[in-house]
Parts: sequence; structure tokens; C-alpha cells
Amino acid sequence: DRESVNRSRRRSRLVVLAGPTAVGKGTVASYIRDNYPDVLLSVSATTRKPRPGEVEGVNYFFVTDEEFDRMIAANELLEHATVHNSHRYGTPRGPIDEALERGDSVLLEIDIQGARQVRRHMPEATLVFLVPPSWDELVRRLIGRGTEDEAEQARRLETAHIELAAQDEFDHRIVNSDVGTAAAEVVDLLVTRGSATSR
Ligand code: 5GP
Repeated sequence: DRESVNRSRRRSRLVVLAGPTAVGKGTVASYIRDNYPDVLLSVSATTRKPRPGEVEGVNYFFVTDEEFDRMIAANELLEHATVHNSHRYGTPRGPIDEALERGDSVLLEIDIQGARQVRRHMPEATLVFLVPPSWDELVRRLIGRGTEDEAEQARRLETAHIELAAQDEFDHRIVNSDVGTAAAEVVDLLVTRGSATSR
């Protein structure tokens, strides 16, 4: 229950933020990137094309299918998954290992399949599940952003329904009603400068 989740709240050097499609994971991650410069956000590799405004090496490393295959073969990815049956996404292992070795913390914003893989490889990671305030709100957000056609929206809602059932596997649940509040709650789970000894 919520009470026991709050009681066990502890800080971690590796925090994974996941959640169903359209819950606003990307928005929360961007908010953290812009407002908490001390937080190291992992930059994923992806085979999808950049959207307007996205910057290579900031939002993603945009790679070809061949390069993605090479990264997998060279064991350069901590986890990887095909998301929404289309493009591939993966977390480069090097920067994370380096950060943890330095004693820095890292935040990963990835999908649920990826979160499960990180749990297997790095059991010390803290897994956070971002939940929508309600199912109706999730539907509103998915349709409101207008980036998918109707058939794709229906597919994603079906996926979201299944994904929501995974929340019990996670260490913490954070409700995304207000992006600033949700971001602060995520950051609060990370060991950041000044927080290491306060709890
Ligand atoms: P988008 O293409 O909208 O930026 O992201 C689509 C989905 O891919 C989101 O659910 C996001 O969390 C997920 N994603 C982004 N990077 C990674 C990654 O490195 N690994 C995994 N497994 N999922 C990722």
C-alpha cells in the first residue's frame, strides 16, 4: 500500500523512470533536464528519426539499424527494446558505469520492458512507475498530443492497459498530475549533491 511505499522511500544512485504510454515520462524527464542540472540523465540510442527540435546527443543518439545491431553485439547497451512495435531504443552502458564509478547518480527514462532488464542486471536500481491521475486523463493525453492516428491510438491504449498492470513490480509509484511536482518527487529519490546524508 501507499503507506509502506512511502516508509521504504530511500535514495539511490540509479533511478529508472518508466510508466505507460502517454503518461508524460518524456515531459517529466525534459523538465528534470531543464530544472535540475545536477541530475545526470542517460541519453538513449534510438533507430527512430529525430523530431523537430531534438538534438543529437541531448535527446538521443540517433543511429542506423546497422549501428544499433553493432552496439548490441559489442555489449554496449545495458538494455534495449523495440517500443510500440516500431523503433529500437537502448541505454548505453558506458556513461552509466562511469557515473556510478565517480559516485554520481543517473536517471534513466525508458519503457517498462527496459526497466525489467535493468532490474535483472542491476538489482540495486530503484524503479519508479509514473501513473496518470486517472484512466480518463491518460486517454485525454494520448489523444490530445495528436501525434498518432486513430488506429495507433487504439493500439497504444491497449498497450497502456497492459502496462498499468506492471506497476506492482516497481519500488515507487508517482502520480503525474503536475509535472513540476512529479519531477521533484523523482529527483528526491536520487542521491544528489546535498542529499546524501540528509536521510
Ligand atoms: P519517443 O520515441 O517518444 O521519444 O519514446 C518512445 C518510448 O521509448 C518511450 O516510452 C520511452 O520511454 C522509450 N525509451 C526511450 N529510450 C529508451 C531506452 O533507452 N530503452 C528503452 N527500453 N526504452 C526507451
